[in-house]
Amino acid sequence: MSAVSLSGAPVAKEVRAQVADNVARLASEGIVPALAVVVATDNESTHWYVRSIAKSAAKAGVDCRIIDLGPTASSAQLQATLTQLSEDPQTHGIILQTPLPDGVQVDELVPHIAPDKDIDGANPLSLGRLAVGLPAFAPATARAVVEMLVHHAVPVEGHHVAVVGRSAVVGKPLLHLLLERNASITVCHSRSRPLEDYTRAASVVVVAAGRPGLVTDRHVAPGAVVVDVGTNVLEDGALVGDVDAQSVEQVASALSPVPGGVGTITTALLLLHTSVAARAAVEAKGPLVSSGTVGSHG
Ligand code: NAP
Repeated sequence: MSAVSLSGAPVAKEVRAQVADNVARLASEGIVPALAVVVATDNESTHWYVRSIAKSAAKAGVDCRIIDLGPTASSAQLQATLTQLSEDPQTHGIILQTPLPDGVQVDELVPHIAPDKDIDGANPLSLGRLAVGLPAFAPATARAVVEMLVHHAVPVEGHHVAVVGRSAVVGKPLLHLLLERNASITVCHSRSRPLEDYTRAASVVVVAAGRPGLVTDRHVAPGAVVVDVGTNVLEDGALVGDVDAQSVEQVASALSPVPGGVGTITTALLLLHTSVAARAAVEAKGPLVSSGTVGSHG
């Protein structure tokens, strides 16, 4: 078997079309959705990523402000900035970019992002709301996986999905997003042994572990669909996922590539969430988007 490639490009295109629609409707009411990205590092790849968000925002008609506090910013400074942005009626979406300065804990900062502006689902309140089925913004990466599955017509309702990784950014929100879509989910982690006993029982395997080559053909049931969230830069500069694509392609029915898969969709979703936050601010009432996909909400 040679797996079909689950490309992220058409999914991102569909999300961008929804952003364009939302932005046009807001523009007709004199509103420009505004995103603030808070940065406190001199890490060049972070700055490159943030500039790429700003470029995509400009193309989409979303105002994007980069607030660079520098690599020596204190926790208090960062907290004050996030609080001020949360209270600023001209700001609709807020992202706190990692890495942070030495000694500054992300957990101390994210509660200062107002949940209605938390467009990358970083505040624990957002995850808590998702967990109990209340409207909230999911982290863009977790939602990108769902958009990928929906766009490529991969059924999850009534199916067993194995998620490898239990971070607050991917694995945990994905558990709730997939539960809402009536999947049965197994969340695996570094103590799930042997990993293949869990993953081989699933018809969809989502891998978000940050371990290049972790999932091979022996972890995948014949005909299963595999979504690779991993983004790992090797010593030679190559960007690879967590899946050993060469072997998995031989058993899976479909596999998302890295690069060109899930990562392609996330920036478009950040802009979509910003436009939804702007709409909610205009109406001064919910509901915010939770697990809806571009086809159904947005
Ligand atoms: P993380 O916070 O480091 O979490 C990794 C998870 O994988 C943990 O739950 C860990 O288990 C689990 N894990 C590690 N080794 C494992 C093993 N051998 N077997 C089973 N599970 C294992 O990472 P993250 O932030 O979720 O990111 C995961 C990957 O997704 C990374 O490659 C990251 O770069 C990528 N990512 C991509 C995007 C994007 O495309 N835009 C965004 C975010 C993340 P324990 O909990 O037991 O330690």
